[in-house]
Amino acid sequence: MPDDDCIFCKIVAGELPSEIVQEDEHTLAFMDINPWTRGHALVIPRNHSRNLYEAPEEDLAHSTAAAKRLALRMRDALGCDGVNVLNCCEPAAWQTVFHLHLHVIPRYDDDPLQLPGQPREAEADELARVASELRGG
Ligand code: AMP
Ligand code: ZN
Repeated sequence: MPDDDCIFCKIVAGELPSEIVQEDEHTLAFMDINPWTRGHALVIPRNHSRNLYEAPEEDLAHSTAAAKRLALRMRDALGCDGVNVLNCCEPAAWQTVFHLHLHVIPRYDDDPLQLPGQPREAEADELARVASELRGG
């Protein structure tokens, strides 16, 4: 069911303009209006769901497959050197539009993007504790 307040549902319905670059029965891909790099696009399922927590698995499968096709197109048509696929789930994880979407971001050897986090080595017992919480033990 489309959500009346959702801008991406309006793009699916053709009620808001977008630069569509790829579409199929289940998904749509269009240019992000605030690109991180040249060619940054968003893949969305046509069905509305808020985010990763709520999306049906079929929508995730279709969207991921569409992201792969788009990544190959970016490589071949734009000559990018790599691709990042990013999903943001809830505001704590930078989500600002609440219709599931995958950012497909072409990367270039000389682009200015940097890792947003600082990886650090963890002690084995710290990993074991959090793994145990995740396993529910
Ligand atoms: P997120 O922060 O992961 O929820 O990403 C939302 C993305 O949607 C941002 O990168 C915005 O630049 C992008 N965006 C917002 N409105 C539009 C729009 N009307 N058309 C295309 N991209 C949009
Ligand atoms: Zn929507």
